[in-house]
Amino acid sequence: MLIVATHNSHKTGEMKKILGDLFPEITDLTSIPGLEPPVEDGDTFAENSAIKALAASHEHTCAFILADDSGLEVDALDGAPGIYSSRFSGENATDATNRSKLLIEMVGKTNRAARFRCVVTIAKGGDVLGVFDGTIEGRIAESMSGGGGFGYDPIFIPEGYEETFGELSEEIKNGMSHRARALEKFREWWKENSKTQHG
Ligand code: IMP
Repeated sequence: MLIVATHNSHKTGEMKKILGDLFPEITDLTSIPGLEPPVEDGDTFAENSAIKALAASHEHTCAFILADDSGLEVDALDGAPGIYSSRFSGENATDATNRSKLLIEMVGKTNRAARFRCVVTIAKGGDVLGVFDGTIEGRIAESMSGGGGFGYDPIFIPEGYEETFGELSEEIKNGMSHRARALEKFREWWKENSKTQHG
């Protein structure tokens, strides 16, 4: 069994679609009561990903734990919101308030280049076994479009497309996203290491 160290069911849903053939049983912290999310006080996606993976792996010592730390970097905002993507609009931030704040900050900006980044960490029994990253370049839309996905998806247009991730199908997003690219590297690692790491 693989435990995804998140309470974000959107992330888990995407991971199930991307890795379902490899792991028939994937669960997350929403179905394991009692484990509070750790304080994410790292300075990078990689540090926060490791913090989440290790916290869960100390609680569930026999399971493989996969953690995802991800976010959006906008060039015109000097890389913000970055590691603060989920809290961009403050303590009680929601996906909607974060998107609104970003669109307001982008008013008048001609450079709309941006990228999603994702770092996934696999851990077991308090040890980090592997770290894998993925990036998808794109740009910030002028306004929200589409109700698919989550987070900043309705205002992010991936390279090669004219629609936002909120408008594109989940098959398209899960075939090219930052998360898909990080998980593709994890998949290769798992296949190579499965004999020594399984069980
Ligand atoms: P984390 O849970 O601390 O890793 O924060 C991730 C945040 O980045 C989410 O709350 C979203 O705001 C944003 N994010 C990460 N991945 C995606 C994605 O695939 N689509 C849209 N927003 C994302």
